[in-house]
Amino acid sequence: MPALDEARRRDDLDPLAQYARQFATEGSIHLNGNSLGPPRGNLAAELDRVVSGQWAPRQVQAWFQDGWLELPRTVGDKLGTLLGAGPGQVLVAGETTSTTLFNALTAACRLRPDRPVLLIEAESFPTDLYIANSVARLLDRELVVESRAGFDEYLRDNGTQVAAALAAPVDFRTGERREIRPITALCHAVGAVSVWDLSHATGVLPVDLDANAVDLAVGCGYKYLGGGPGAPAFTYVPTRLQSTVDFPLAGWHGHAKPFAMTQTFIPADDIDRARTGTPPLLSLVGLNHALAPLVEVGIHELHRRSRDLGEFFLECLDGSRPELLDQLASPRDADRRGGHLALRIPQADKVESALADSGVLVDARPPDLIRFAFAPLYVTHEQVSRAADALCRAVEGGR
Ligand SMILES: *Cc1c(COP(=O)(O)O)cnc(C)c1O
Repeated sequence: MPALDEARRRDDLDPLAQYARQFATEGSIHLNGNSLGPPRGNLAAELDRVVSGQWAPRQVQAWFQDGWLELPRTVGDKLGTLLGAGPGQVLVAGETTSTTLFNALTAACRLRPDRPVLLIEAESFPTDLYIANSVARLLDRELVVESRAGFDEYLRDNGTQVAAALAAPVDFRTGERREIRPITALCHAVGAVSVWDLSHATGVLPVDLDANAVDLAVGCGYKYLGGGPGAPAFTYVPTRLQSTVDFPLAGWHGHAKPFAMTQTFIPADDIDRARTGTPPLLSLVGLNHALAPLVEVGIHELHRRSRDLGEFFLECLDGSRPELLDQLASPRDADRRGGHLALRIPQADKVESALADSGVLVDARPPDLIRFAFAPLYVTHEQVSRAADALCRAVEGGR
């Protein structure tokens, strides 16, 4: 099969193809890394190092002696290199993305107490819509839900009413990109706080938070970052906002002096303010471990490789079943996509399970959407070629 030869040639040419060996993929092809990627093969050894080498011998003292207490910042700073955020501005408090978003959106609205509107994109991930709705009710603001086009228009026409505007750089269904810079600039022009949910971009797309002057951002730890099931989320708070932002989850770890155990809450004057309570240490260790190869490679190479793999997938389909390209629900232009793409395929869940039977893991969104994610470090061109082949067969079988 020529596509397979070509795939091997491209893998041979790309030094990043070597990384796939580090991952415990168990022979499967993981095209669902925007949902949950495979672990690195040596994760268990890393957890054992912490459990047997730190926790067991030092017990509670390990919080102070083994860097546990700083881990939310240590991991945050590593993550910052993938986000274009300088040190001391990213924190992994140890919460879910939903909780982290609640904290950030409420804080964003509190920065603009006199403005009545919280604006969100209609295409947002469901939890973002639910959380925004709850924040609006809690703070007695009006939730305005606008489609992508309407979102910008609303900001231009009614922006001075908007306290905070929440958007995502990558549409979780179609992979379509949304440029961070112009929307953030538009928010600033009308005085609104811009909040970004980076969940589907982190680890695969440059987001340049500092350069784009983003106000607040959150993102998920278990998608392209590969932090593991339920890995904690992160928050970005730029230095310029750290002494004014007022998070509702004012837990003791966000206190200026948590171990002084005082009755009054005095928030830390740096990124520690975004902390809540005692972080889930082992989950942080897992995320930290997952970040190492991503940080080593760097976000621009990660993006380049993911893009190459996605384009190769479309080339393979074009070679064997070009009519599938007409079912593309994502932009054809790779510059306008994040790390995944989606095809409209009838009976998506049946095709998903047929693919799983041939060892190809994808993610169906019934009734007719299948998402294919191209995580840069554990997916190879050879796998992409096999996956495209399996898809053509599964679609054929479904007729
Ligand atoms: C995956 C994802 C989440 C996940 O939220 P959890 O609370 O971690 O389950 C939230 N928002 C977006 C945009 C996502 O893509």
